[in-house]
Amino acid sequence: MDFVIAPPAQAALPVAGGGLFPVHRIYCVGRNYAAHTVEMGGDPDREPPFFFQKNPDNLVTGGADVAYPDRTGDLHHEIELVAALGEGGKDIAVEQALAHVWGYAVGIDLTRRDLQAECKRLSRPWEVAKAFEGSAPCGDLHPAAAIGHPAAGAIRLAVNGETRQEGDLDQLIWKLPEIVAHLSGLFTLAPGDLIFTGTPAGVAAVQRGDVMRGEVAGVGELRCKIV
Ligand code: MN
Repeated sequence: MDFVIAPPAQAALPVAGGGLFPVHRIYCVGRNYAAHTVEMGGDPDREPPFFFQKNPDNLVTGGADVAYPDRTGDLHHEIELVAALGEGGKDIAVEQALAHVWGYAVGIDLTRRDLQAECKRLSRPWEVAKAFEGSAPCGDLHPAAAIGHPAAGAIRLAVNGETRQEGDLDQLIWKLPEIVAHLSGLFTLAPGDLIFTGTPAGVAAVQRGDVMRGEVAGVGELRCKIV
C-alpha cells in the first residue's frame, strides 16, 4: 500500500567518522546528579529514577543554530551525556545493559523552565516544557567500539565562554546500566533509542545570540547558538 501523505523524514544523528544513526525514541532521565536535584528542590537520596521523552524530530544536529522557542521567557540549558542503543529489549539486566549501547554523544536538554514550573505546580505532564521544536541539540555520535563506555570524566557547559555547568560523570545518581535496566522494565527499548542521562548543577537561562559549548571528556563536544 502506498502512503497517502509523504512519510516523515527519518530522524538521525551523524556518526563521527561517517554514516548516520537512525533515531527511534528519545528518553530523558530527570534529576540524576545530586547537586542539580538539590537546585531543583528535590532530595537526591530518596528519589527513584524518573523519565520523560522528547520527540526524535526535536534533535538539532550538525551544529545548526536553534531558534529561541515561542511561549517562554526562561529557556534553560542542561548539558547531558547521551547514550544511543544499538540493541533493544525488555527487562534488560544491569550486567547486560552496556552491551546494548552503540555509542555516545554530547547533548543539551533545552527546557522551557517557566512552563515546566507551571506543569509541576498544576501536576501536568512536561511535554510543553521539554519536547518542543529544537529542544534537543546533539553532537556527533561516537561509537563505543572506539571510545568505550565512559563512566567518569568532566561534563561541562559554557555560555559565551563562561562556564555555567560543571560536573563529572561519576556523580550520576543512577548509572547508565541501571538506567537502561529500569527503562527496559517500563518500555520496550529498541535499536535507535537515545537516552539523555541527566544534567549536573548550574542550569540557567540563555538568550538569543548566546553560544553554548558543551563537552564531555572522552566523548566529544557540541556547539550550539541560540538565534
Ligand atoms: Mn535534563
